[in-house]
Amino acid sequence: MANRWGIPKEVENHVKTRDTCCVYCRTKFKSDNGSRSAKPSWEHIVNDIRLNGTNNIALCCISCNASKGSKLLEDWLKSNYCIKKDINKNSVACVVKNAISDPPKLDEK
Ligand SMILES: [Zn+2]
Repeated sequence: MANRWGIPKEVENHVKTRDTCCVYCRTKFKSDNGSRSAKPSWEHIVNDIRLNGTNNIALCCISCNASKGSKLLEDWLKSNYCIKKDINKNSVACVVKNAISDPPKLDEK
């Protein structure tokens, strides 16, 4: 069973428990109807929708998601948005650090 983003339910549940704040800027998510920016959105760390394991699926805030768009993670980290918000390889969540040092790949079969 997968949700409408093609993310398996067990991955969705795992990530929701793990990522309680934006994996990039570390903004804490709010479950109430607070500010729009504190709402989580689904993120593929490596922009490949076929990579939908817990090592590539994460939750980030709407502003980070909008800013990152389809950019490569490494390129996006050099953008003005990241510089302004102090988002870098050392400040991001573990799952993102891992994706930088050991990018998720499709199983070669
Ligand atoms: Zn963010």
